[in-house]
Amino acid sequence: MHSSTSNLSEYVGRFAPSPTGPLHFGSLVTAVGSYLDARSRGGRWLLRVDDLDQARNVVGAADGILATLEKFGFEWNGEAIRQSARLPRYGEMLDRLRAMQAVFPCSCSRRELADSALARDGARLYPGTCRDGPNQVRPAYAWRIRTAGSINFADLIQGPQHENLELEVGDFVVRRADGQFAYQLAVVVDDHDAGVTHVVRGADLLHSTGRQIYLQRLFGFSTPVYAHLPVVVNEAGEKLSKQTHAPAIDSTRPTRALVDALRFLGQRPPTEIAEAPVELLWQWAIANWTLDRVPHALQVRDELR
Ligand code: GLU
Repeated sequence: MHSSTSNLSEYVGRFAPSPTGPLHFGSLVTAVGSYLDARSRGGRWLLRVDDLDQARNVVGAADGILATLEKFGFEWNGEAIRQSARLPRYGEMLDRLRAMQAVFPCSCSRRELADSALARDGARLYPGTCRDGPNQVRPAYAWRIRTAGSINFADLIQGPQHENLELEVGDFVVRRADGQFAYQLAVVVDDHDAGVTHVVRGADLLHSTGRQIYLQRLFGFSTPVYAHLPVVVNEAGEKLSKQTHAPAIDSTRPTRALVDALRFLGQRPPTEIAEAPVELLWQWAIANWTLDRVPHALQVRDELR
């Protein structure tokens, strides 16, 4: 589907897991938050598999995540989309950026950037070396966005946000020298093409939002509403992930795990509901979802289980 204008009264949400391993409690929390926000407002909820990063994809993980979501009673609209099937579309949008001269080819190697200052997310702040033409002749170039100015937006959970792209992020990569499109480009194009109006996701992506809004404005796309949920961290303060050895969710007890996810999100499910059939739990959760109860924090320790 391709829509550039979305009906204002229509809510379209989505969940976009990366298939780097089985669904763990952290990704379940994000799925639950985005699902309930959409369904409690009569919205549609789409599923997208963010499988651009070949090196991090785990064989079978995408199917495993979809099967777990189904078992937990999530119902999505339409077929799940895979980013790996959309490369020509990203190429088309990169060409648009080239035509606008919003991007420039960059020949800098990682080593050449190693002395640059650090951006907020730990990546190197690009010193602008190739802004006026590639510094060196190389067989392959990355494409970087020329950044300027600041982005402000209001996050429904985390409050007002301000980001000076030039100083805090720098000219960012939209296609790497090895040809891989960057997440920042893909997510903007995907959300737009699917008509997504509300992005409810983990707060680890709060700091990516300025870049995404910047791209939306270059393309003339509308900006969705953003709500960044607290990220589940372990006792060491690390985000649950494959790298931190987060255990796969126990799919033999869906209601238990869903009740834990609801409590993590500040909702107050009655204790008995953990023993009820999963359909009843969803009925309760959709009827009682309150975004205002979600903790206004970037991270929350997983102390429930
Ligand atoms: N695929 C990303 C992740 O799993 C989420 C992307 C998004 O929600 O924008 O962290």
